[in-house]
Amino acid sequence: MIRALLIGTYEMGRQPFGLASPAAWLRDAGVDVTCVDLTRDRLSNDAVSRAGLVAWYLPMHTATRLALPIIQRVREVNPDAHLCGYGLYAPLNASLLAELGVASVLGPEFEADLADLAVALGEGRPPPAAAAPLPRLTFKVPDRGTLPPLALYATLSDAAGASRLAGYTEASRGCKHTCRHCPIVPVYEGRFRVVAPDVVLADIRAQVEAGARHITFGDPDFFNGPAHAVEVVRRVAEAFPNVSYDVTTKVEHLLDHADLLPTLRETGCAFVTSAVESFDDRVLRILDKGHTRADVARAVEACRAAGVMLTPTFVPFTPWTSLDTYCRMLEEVAALDLIDHVAPIQLAIRLLLPERSGLLSDAEIASAVGPFQADGLIYPWRHPDARVDALQVELMALVGRRVAAPRREVFEAVWVLAHERAGVSRPLPVPAARAAIPYLNEPWYC
Ligand code: SF4
Repeated sequence: MIRALLIGTYEMGRQPFGLASPAAWLRDAGVDVTCVDLTRDRLSNDAVSRAGLVAWYLPMHTATRLALPIIQRVREVNPDAHLCGYGLYAPLNASLLAELGVASVLGPEFEADLADLAVALGEGRPPPAAAAPLPRLTFKVPDRGTLPPLALYATLSDAAGASRLAGYTEASRGCKHTCRHCPIVPVYEGRFRVVAPDVVLADIRAQVEAGARHITFGDPDFFNGPAHAVEVVRRVAEAFPNVSYDVTTKVEHLLDHADLLPTLRETGCAFVTSAVESFDDRVLRILDKGHTRADVARAVEACRAAGVMLTPTFVPFTPWTSLDTYCRMLEEVAALDLIDHVAPIQLAIRLLLPERSGLLSDAEIASAVGPFQADGLIYPWRHPDARVDALQVELMALVGRRVAAPRREVFEAVWVLAHERAGVSRPLPVPAARAAIPYLNEPWYC
């Protein structure tokens, strides 16, 4: 029997779904599976030496960057093992992975192909060709049995300030939208896949039995299939009335499906993450976000009216940002009374240009980027105004130094620094007193 070693490097502080799901498929296929989450476990040379197949879950940029040196180490320890990369970032970085000796690259709908690969290797057959770039899978319930306990992962700080063990699942994958900066788009090309509600419920049940009192739905956009989303949350609320959850959906969907927001509140939604990205309509048009600055204000209002907590995310540093528009973004956050809703890291994020980014075809971007950097997995870009790049670096350091500080305190420090660098002096408005904002205590991002 072949031994498969599945390695996760980073899943934003969550118990890795990207190991649990393939582990179920591989075990059903009779494969001996070991899962190693490097955020919580060490990778022993012994485990590497025994494996016939070593596979990395590469769902996002940070995870892939962290995997690169591990791939090299595994190759040295066990040059005979068949190496595989799977997940969204694997096809995006297929040529780099091939250069590192990764023989099989599978996309984000990887489970069946990974099981077929392991079985073929176990039987001494050559690796089979992947069935299709984006197969329609009948998902299995993830096998979380050998993963580190939930207590070792990020927890939810709820509206009362109490800590809740948090689990994670996916009710859909991919996205039907085509925002130009999004890494999902070159792979899914406007398609998404739905996970059967019974499978989602069974995965949540396993995590609730392991102590979870909150579930993050990792769907790129929970309202891509609104009827499916509503069925899932209604069934979750019925089965687990004391379990809260959070979802992500775009501003456009918050407005188009405003009638569903009360259902979210009634079924235990602790907060909704939404990629606002910018308050600059020009930037929103370039990114093809499908919303405007005015839409954001309407979405904030719709969420407040429904009693749903909104946590916006941003890409504040782009080639189109100026010191002035950055300060205006902060002012807009304050004016909408969202200071406590924004994780400080969101105030320092710089536009990522990975392989196959839809933005690389933009003439302005093309003139600002350098050649692909294999160690950072990005096309580096430089702002025409060096002061903007300098501010981003300063803010990233500032936020990094104050990971545990209250959001308002960090926001104030960001406000002061940004306005100072822009050469303007504006006092931070005094905010209205509002209830505490629930948040997951993993301070980083993708
Ligand atoms: S809506 Fe979100 S997940 Fe979908 S393409 Fe746009 S940024 Fe990506």
